[in-house]
Amino acid sequence: MSDAQIIDGKAFAAGLRAKIAQAVPAFELAAGRKPGLAVVLVGDDPASRVYVANKAKQTVEVGMASFEHRLPADTPQDELVALVQRLNADDAVDGILVQLPLPKHLDEMAVVSAIDPDKDVDGLHVVSAGRLASGLPGLVSCTPLGCMMLIRDVLGDDLSGKNAVVIGRSILVGKPVAQLLLAANCTVTIAHSRTQDLADVVRRADIVVAAVGRPKMVKAEWIKPGACVIDVGINRVPSSVEGKTRLVGDVDYANVSGIAGSITPVPGGVGPMTIACLLHNTLLAANRRAGLPETKGF
Ligand code: NDP
Repeated sequence: MSDAQIIDGKAFAAGLRAKIAQAVPAFELAAGRKPGLAVVLVGDDPASRVYVANKAKQTVEVGMASFEHRLPADTPQDELVALVQRLNADDAVDGILVQLPLPKHLDEMAVVSAIDPDKDVDGLHVVSAGRLASGLPGLVSCTPLGCMMLIRDVLGDDLSGKNAVVIGRSILVGKPVAQLLLAANCTVTIAHSRTQDLADVVRRADIVVAAVGRPKMVKAEWIKPGACVIDVGINRVPSSVEGKTRLVGDVDYANVSGIAGSITPVPGGVGPMTIACLLHNTLLAANRRAGLPETKGF
């Protein structure tokens, strides 16, 4: 039994941010401004505040302009939509991200639908989903894009003919990952809570992407020897230190890493890729909006 190659998402994300930082000055020279990312946070959910602060910090670190909009938790729908529309019209803004989840009284789909699809750097607009499914250029949601970058880094660009199993069918992760794998000519199976004999389905996979939200659900006996295992899950479980918690993925990492060919750890695998891909998408949107060639080498 060999130990799997550990896919270091933290290092890959740092490398991606460095490449973006190198590409930003060329955009600035050609366009006469920095690429700009606007992040909208409604309310004061502590986890969302941390995410938004991290996004803003990393945006500035790669040399982009960061526009933060913090609104009170009781902001009415029409005010939020009006802000999104102002950001759509603002030429300095290339990417708009509305931090989810929104407070209960707000209609998330309606707010996301108000974003100009060409600025939809989170890739959640139905137009972005449609472009992805149709093979048209668009913006792909960040976590799925990060998964693909890691898969290609370890398996190479040619994924043609590989059997891929995606566990989970959410709009945020499962479905777009499956679309990307399909576009890469994999034979794709999407599993979900009604899938029968999941172990048997997963056993056929050369590539497994687990995006479920159930700690250590994917077992070593399910894994084909040598498979590439991408664990998107982030689950907080009690730690051995009383009163503390720790993060685990959807994959039983300790045992699966003895069977898989390569595997992402949690934390430090897919997680760090999400913000790096947000910055990637912002640069992509900026180049497209300015009529400039897309930056090569990502
Ligand atoms: P959702 O809850 O939206 O979707 C979960 C999916 O898992 C559903 O499609 C569901 O099926 C399926 N599922 C649930 N139980 C089972 C089961 N027993 N067997 C097979 N499939 C099952 O979650 P998300 O896609 O938003 O997120 C998934 C995980 O990824 C979470 O842990 C989340 O925290 C993490 N995540 C990490 C990110 C990052 O790294 N940056 C970003 C986004 C998410 P059904 O559709 O039938 O209900």
